[in-house]
Amino acid sequence: MALNLLGLNRHELTRFLEGLGEKPFRARQLMRWIHQEGVADFSLMSNLSKQARQTLASHAEVSVPELVSEQVAEDGTRKWLLSLGQGNAIETVFIPEATRGTLCISSQVGCALACSFCATGRQGFNRNLTTAEIIGQVWWANQALGANGQNERVISNVVLMGMGEPLLNYEAVVEAIDILLDDHGYGLSRRRVTLSTSGVLPALERLRDRAPVALAVSLHAPTDELRNELVPLNQKYPLQELMASCRRYLDKAPRDFITFEYVMLAGVNDSDQQAQQLLRCVQDVPCKFNLIPFNPFSHSGYRRSSPERIRRFRDILMSAGLVVTVRRTRGDDIDAACGQLAGKVVDKSRRTLDRSGERL
Ligand code: SAH
Ligand code: SF4
Repeated sequence: MALNLLGLNRHELTRFLEGLGEKPFRARQLMRWIHQEGVADFSLMSNLSKQARQTLASHAEVSVPELVSEQVAEDGTRKWLLSLGQGNAIETVFIPEATRGTLCISSQVGCALACSFCATGRQGFNRNLTTAEIIGQVWWANQALGANGQNERVISNVVLMGMGEPLLNYEAVVEAIDILLDDHGYGLSRRRVTLSTSGVLPALERLRDRAPVALAVSLHAPTDELRNELVPLNQKYPLQELMASCRRYLDKAPRDFITFEYVMLAGVNDSDQQAQQLLRCVQDVPCKFNLIPFNPFSHSGYRRSSPERIRRFRDILMSAGLVVTVRRTRGDDIDAACGQLAGKVVDKSRRTLDRSGERL
């Protein structure tokens, strides 16, 4: 089978080209064609010799996921559904703002971690994405947004916050990060790529040494008791260890704070007392908070905290000197908001609905 060059970082591409007897510098040219010009057909790569184009065509391909649909929300948020074959599909979301354009990409088909308030978690898990499938989302968004061939970069930030837990697909994700950061790839700085994790600590330690990008951690609860229930992974990696890992991560991180994400669930995690507990929980970690009003989906069993409650919770954190933002809900009319991404997952995990966490 032909090798898909879409998912190779510069190092791998160079090795591949050397194996074909091609000059290593061709890796840079190829990456520019593929990622910056959006060209998938070798015959159109005009600065490669005819011979090189033919050799490439007989050993490799640039294969992107199939675009199934595009939806545009009233607020300009766009969502793409990409088919991966065998009944699986993933979603990618672009969120335009005045000063930046953020692309939210998926890392897995579904998610095995089963956080109780997350639509993706409810769907079960099928498989990890390949690096090509992760990068394919950025490739498609670039095409759809018309960035290719223009100087202006429409996508200024990429967040690994879509479907799946990126740190449970570590190898593919770090290679995708290589391509996002490569000047001949998408040319983003480490500050403009954010990985969001529910706290897979051994992989977080590896990320710190290998590809330390900006980090968001899904906290959602101030005590182990409640977090065990909302984020079952907490039973394996509890809060104290999570906080210690966050501190260590900051030694290498491109920003001097961790962003804690905290979904606001009415009557579950949004009381004044819980805000106080939260302050104690994070006291040793330089951080900012991003409060996310819960985005409902059918049979979730949760309600969003009221605006007054969210404001009050925010004020308690802020009065202790923390920087707190409340995430504006974007694209919810097309189910593109946080936690609403569902794609199509052929569930293979066959887990029960018991949330005791035993299966972890
Ligand atoms: N698995 C990773 C990244 C994907 S989830 C993680 O958990 O961090 C991206 C963010 O959306 C997480 O902070 C997650 O907790 C949040 N989220 C999930 N379901 C949500 C919902 N229904 N409403 C609001 N935010 C949600
Ligand atoms: Fe997975 Fe993140 Fe959803 Fe939890 S919140 S189930 S880790 S995608």
